[in-house]
Order: sequence, then C-alpha cells, then structure tokens
Amino acid sequence: MTLEDTPTRRQLIGSALGAAVTLAGASQLFGSADRVAALSSAVMRPGAATKPAVRLAITDKLTFPVDANPIYGTLVCLNNFGGRSTANGPCSHNGVDIGNDKVSGRGRPLLACVDGVVHKDEAFSTGGLTRILRDGIGTYYRYHHLDSYESSLKEGDPVTAGQVIGTMGNTGNTVWSHLHFEIWQDSLTPSRATIIDPVPRLWFPHGVTLRAPTACAT
Ligand SMILES: [Zn+2]
Repeated sequence: MTLEDTPTRRQLIGSALGAAVTLAGASQLFGSADRVAALSSAVMRPGAATKPAVRLAITDKLTFPVDANPIYGTLVCLNNFGGRSTANGPCSHNGVDIGNDKVSGRGRPLLACVDGVVHKDEAFSTGGLTRILRDGIGTYYRYHHLDSYESSLKEGDPVTAGQVIGTMGNTGNTVWSHLHFEIWQDSLTPSRATIIDPVPRLWFPHGVTLRAPTACAT
C-alpha cells in the first residue's frame, strides 16, 4: 500500500484543509520531523509552499543592435518610436535612434539582434546604407545609416545574435552618426507590416541611456 492510498492520508489532507490536523497524527503518518514541521507550517499559513517558488527566466529580448563596449564611447538610445518628441510633439518615426552621446560613433560595430539571415542590403536616400535581417518567424530588423556593411556577409547568409553585421554611420538623411533601428513584423510592405516599438524588445546593456528625444530625429 502506498502512502497515497492510505485512508489516513486522505483524511489528513481533508483535515489540513480544515486546519484541524494534529502533529501527532502527521508524525505517525510521515515519520519525519521535517515533513511534519513543513506540513504544520503549511497548515498554519494557508497557501504557503514548503519550498520557495522558482520563477523561470523566460525572455525573448533582443540583443542590443549596437556594440555597447565603452571603448567606443557612451551610448544613448532615443526613446522616439512614433515620434515621441518633447520639442516637436507628434512626428513620424518608425524606429529608435541609437548613437554616441558625445564623440562621433561613426565606425562603431553594429550587431545582429537575433539569430536569422541577412535578408536584404539596400541604399535609400533617407535611410542611407541599410541592412535588413530576418528571423525565423518572419520579423524584419532594419538597420539604417550604416557607414559600411560587414563585408563577409551577403544577402541570404545566416547570422547569430551578437555577430557584427556592419558599422554605424551617417549615410542618408541624418546629421549625426547613429543607428536608426526598426522592427517590422510579418512583412516589409507597409500596408501589411506591423511596425513595433523596439524599446520593450531590446535587452539594454549596462551603461546605455534611454533618453527622451528633443526633436523629430531621423
Ligand atoms: Zn531615426
């Protein structure tokens, strides 16, 4: 007969629920002072577990798309998705801008934010030199204003999160060297895509400042 089969245990559970169990009865059943103490504690404090709960660390945060090593200078991420401009009010901005706080960040390594592939390399008059990554579920990560592509990579090549994919620059419509970073879900066609705020998705390394923008940055 197993412990679970004994009428005594069923009775004990029923008693415990009614907070009427006796330590003598529990001691006879379990034969362990520790178990009795734990049970007693649980009975005295309804809802308390005999072991601390463990929260599993499940995260889908993206690798920060710029190398945060301070040897390249202090990094700032403008919290300007959707045009959160304290100076100009609403303005159109589909991503966030990440750049150096003081000295120019031109040439700073840009990193793959996710495991995926190089989907497309393209140059725009506004976005400048652009590299787009795609992950396994059809989300696109757009890197704009690059100074240069990592030349060992070409369209279709796999990338691993944290891998250097290019360098920060100021190509296109911008006045400072920075990364304009966007996340497009499902499609690169504006009418079909859902463009989301990267900030909640990013894992911010120590030392990177998230700052409210003062203008409608590009
Ligand atoms: Zn921008």
